[in-house]
Parts: sequence; structure tokens; C-alpha cells
Amino acid sequence: MTPSVAPATDNRSDSAAGLLLPVPDDDGAPFWEYAARGELRIQACADCDALRFPPRPCCPHCRSFSARWQRMSGRGRIWSYVLPHPPLLPAYAEQPGYNAIIVELAEAPGIRLVGNLVTAADAPLNSVDPARLRIGAPVKAVFHTMPGGVTVPRWLLERP
Ligand SMILES: [Zn+2]
Repeated sequence: MTPSVAPATDNRSDSAAGLLLPVPDDDGAPFWEYAARGELRIQACADCDALRFPPRPCCPHCRSFSARWQRMSGRGRIWSYVLPHPPLLPAYAEQPGYNAIIVELAEAPGIRLVGNLVTAADAPLNSVDPARLRIGAPVKAVFHTMPGGVTVPRWLLERP
């Protein structure tokens, strides 16, 4: 997987226009395939068991090229967050007060995923009152299928 994103293009539905969508690559494709099944999985070394993210061919600890995809509990904590302010891309300007959070996974404190904190898997991006955001708050993953068809992890507060 790549951490980069790209604007939706004309071959996606109109409602996806302007949203930033993941661009899966060969190494990261399984991450998105498991997400589409409602599973949060992180690449792990098949030899030394070290988890690594973003996905890549070689283990940075033991240099093995053998890998597997380990299922996570989906639990973590807000490591950091931002509340974007204008100027925003047009598709995001229509959703003022949204957040972007960085989640540190419970099983792998060195691994952090970027996403959005929402009140339900399919809730609007700005469904959480920004005043509720706290660094360290426990969160759990849910999965949302974007208008273009890709399924992304989103996050709910453990104690809403
Ligand atoms: Zn290894």
C-alpha cells in the first residue's frame, strides 16, 4: 500500500468526485482486500513476526521476503489529530468540521494509521463534534465503502 492518495477521476461515480481515495499498489493490495471483508490486517514478517506498515516487500528487522497478513483487533488510541481549516478541496469544503486522526494500534504501538473519527461506519465525515477529540482516546475500527468502491477503515470512539 502507498500512503499517497489521489483525487477521484472520471471513471468513478459523481459522488466520489474530488474525494481523496487510496491508490492500492501491489504490496498494499491485501490491506484493501481485507478491509473490503471488514478485517483490519497488518503485514507481518513470516520469519520474525515483526509487524510493518506501510506494506513493503522486505522485513526491516530480519530482511526476510516472506510475509503474511495478521488480523488486528481493530482497537487503538488517537495518537494525534487535525481539524482541517479552509482552504479545503471542494469535496471537503462541503463537510466543515471534519477531522483526520492518527490511530496507534493496540497490538502495535509503532504502527499508526490515518483515518477519520465518525459516529458510525457510514456517517458523514463531520459527524463527530470536534470538541470530543482527545489524544489518547480509545477507538475501534469500522469499515466504510467509498463511492468509488474502495473500503477504508474509519474509527469510532470506544466511549461515545
Ligand atoms: Zn522479519
